[in-house]
Amino acid sequence: MTKEKADEKKAEEKKTEEKTEKNVEEKTKKKAVEKPAAEKEDKPGAEEQKKEKAAVKEAPADKEKEQTTDKEKEQPAESGVGFRGRGRESLDGAEAWLPKTKLGSDVLAGKYKNLEEVLEKGELILESEIVSAMLPDMMHEIIYIGGSPGKGGGIRRTATKMTSRMHKSGRRFKLTALSVVGNGAGIVGIGAASSKEHRSAIEKSMKNAKLNVIRVRGGCGSWECGCDGGHSIPFKVGGRSGSVSVTLIPAPKGVGKVASEETRKILKLAGIDDVWVKTQGKTSTRNNLALSVFDALKNLNRGKGAL
Ligand SMILES: [Zn+2]
Repeated sequence: MTKEKADEKKAEEKKTEEKTEKNVEEKTKKKAVEKPAAEKEDKPGAEEQKKEKAAVKEAPADKEKEQTTDKEKEQPAESGVGFRGRGRESLDGAEAWLPKTKLGSDVLAGKYKNLEEVLEKGELILESEIVSAMLPDMMHEIIYIGGSPGKGGGIRRTATKMTSRMHKSGRRFKLTALSVVGNGAGIVGIGAASSKEHRSAIEKSMKNAKLNVIRVRGGCGSWECGCDGGHSIPFKVGGRSGSVSVTLIPAPKGVGKVASEETRKILKLAGIDDVWVKTQGKTSTRNNLALSVFDALKNLNRGKGAL
């Protein structure tokens, strides 16, 4: 009898378990049916009904909101006064500029009409923003001073020169760039800078180039031409850097820039159309080649009638 009773009890328990399971299944089915209905309904109603669901639904929405707010926060910061790293200066221009020198505040106040006036006065330019503010049509070129040995025929030229120093854990690299800025009409500057990164080296060198701007004396010293224009240079002039020495010779109209590719970049930004260039020394060191051409342009300002 006891065994039978026990069996009956077990059977009953099983039945109840089955029932509960069925109930659970039915409930889940009902929920499943209810879920899409709730979703179809307005969201606040659904949130009230089932908090868990609402929590799940709200979480992604909140994230999206946060992302949008972040974006909104970032956009004004970039265009506004806040400085974020280097290199924003070239994009933002004078808007984000707070001058630190007297010349800078004078330029911002509009006391100078153009950059020639500033240079004529012999003022020392200590802020690159002065040049960017006064030369809106400024152009920028990178002198390819770097290179790596290639497979066939000479080296592959690169914009930055890679140098290395030894450390106990290996080699530490540094990249150097040489930039030229100018308006193509008598103002040109050259500057070098080095950094761990390619991009920042170029940006820093561009900034340094703006600090080294000079006026280039145009003219036509060619007896073959005899015009009174400023397409060439007024006389033969020389310059040097390291072993490289160059001679710039005035040429008549139509000759063009008889020079190597890197030299032509400087002459173009200086605003010289026709010139012959003679070089001596190791001109494959393009760093010294560029600096010697700049030195020659500087030497145009020597003597009578200098700018
Ligand atoms: Zn001429």
